[in-house]
Amino acid sequence: MPHPHAVAGMVSRLNDPHYARWASQVRATGGCRQPIHLRGKVDHIDPATGELLHRYSTRAEPGGVLRVPCKTRRASRCPACAEVYRADTYQLIRAGLAGGKGVPETVTGHPCLFVTLTAPSFGVVHTRREKNGKVLPCHARRDAATCPHGRVMSCTARHGSEETCLGEPLCPDCYDYAGSVLFNALSPELWRRFTLALRRRLAKTAGLTQRELREQVTVSFAKVAEYQRRGVVHFHAVIRLDGPDGPTASPPSWATADALADAVRHAVSAVAVTAPAAEGEPARVLRWGTQLDVRPITMGGELTDQAVAGYIAKYATKAAECVGTLDRRVSPLDDLDALPLREHARRLIAECFRLGALDGLAELRLTQWAHMLGFRGHFSTKSRRYSTTFGAIREERAEHMRAEAVSTGRLPLFEEDTVLVIAEWEYAGQGYSLGDALLAAALTGVPLAGVALADPGGR
Ligand SMILES: [Zn+2]
Ligand SMILES: [Zn+2]
Ligand SMILES: [Zn+2]
Repeated sequence: MPHPHAVAGMVSRLNDPHYARWASQVRATGGCRQPIHLRGKVDHIDPATGELLHRYSTRAEPGGVLRVPCKTRRASRCPACAEVYRADTYQLIRAGLAGGKGVPETVTGHPCLFVTLTAPSFGVVHTRREKNGKVLPCHARRDAATCPHGRVMSCTARHGSEETCLGEPLCPDCYDYAGSVLFNALSPELWRRFTLALRRRLAKTAGLTQRELREQVTVSFAKVAEYQRRGVVHFHAVIRLDGPDGPTASPPSWATADALADAVRHAVSAVAVTAPAAEGEPARVLRWGTQLDVRPITMGGELTDQAVAGYIAKYATKAAECVGTLDRRVSPLDDLDALPLREHARRLIAECFRLGALDGLAELRLTQWAHMLGFRGHFSTKSRRYSTTFGAIREERAEHMRAEAVSTGRLPLFEEDTVLVIAEWEYAGQGYSLGDALLAAALTGVPLAGVALADPGGR
């Protein structure tokens, strides 16, 4: 049974004379779980005469506000908006592989690889590996050593795919938590250095200077960060070679998929980044892990453009919460023991606070990014010439929705350049009351898991 407050809220909303308009606003948010409330107006003015042609004001809307989608990318916060973000990411990645959205189809002939760059080991963790369809023992060692904390460094279990111990250390006291969070913090810089080394290697292979390389080849990429269960990020990237003008131009004949693969392998092993020494902490040199996956993307082969676009889009809506941490900021003043965290995540966060308090590491801002286990980079990034932009995809959708609003009579149809549009908006809150949330879920068919948490007294 819903909470009495929720029932009362639903009844009063259903009896509200503005219910129909409220319901249509809710439908227009596409099932957003936490819509933003805006108050304001949009005036359409004739620039020649100053005449007010049309005014839209939220004053006439239910509650005096317009509800718009929150547009988060994170599925843990709003599944509906994250789904829009996932679909946009899919289109953006796919266009760079198969053409479309302004990218010519000839791009399919350009050398293109799907590369996964991993983090090094920070200690033995429980894992699930399969060979020929059979699950292997986790970490079986016949003469396993006992660590200084008295734990035997062996695990003969064949773990299930959803077991919570996966990614957790065999001995948390031996695990290098500092290394793990420092790697997360410095991985964006390590990636940047990787892209530079990649270009250097390509130039060297072709016998060109850096400048000559730029005149012949553009290296385009799109990447996404994914948290492994052990709480460290790795990167999946599409890396493509184009001619000097990007996807519209063919790369020179020497720029093959093999040459690109060689440059990737070389660059991965060549680069390093140093975490500075700080009070009681030595400087550390961090590198990519030895596990490197480099595969060609082809239109009908083993790894297709759809598979890659789907893979990257899926990870673009996730964050560290899959590791058992929180999807919001935590502060050193929070009692970590009282938060619903897995032990491994709790230790990673505690390590961020410990290192974040050291002056020598202040610029890594580990305290602010503790909930992300030290990583403060962007989740999905692409080089300028990879394909279209999120802005262009969103504009296309906005154009479509505008056309719909015009055809249903909600917006006057004016020529864009013949009217002056002046909009004034202010933020007026976010989210639903419990009763509204239940109605919104019924209206949009999007389940509202999590929303009910707003009312701890609810049953
Ligand atoms: Zn939303
Ligand atoms: Zn195990
Ligand atoms: Zn130990």
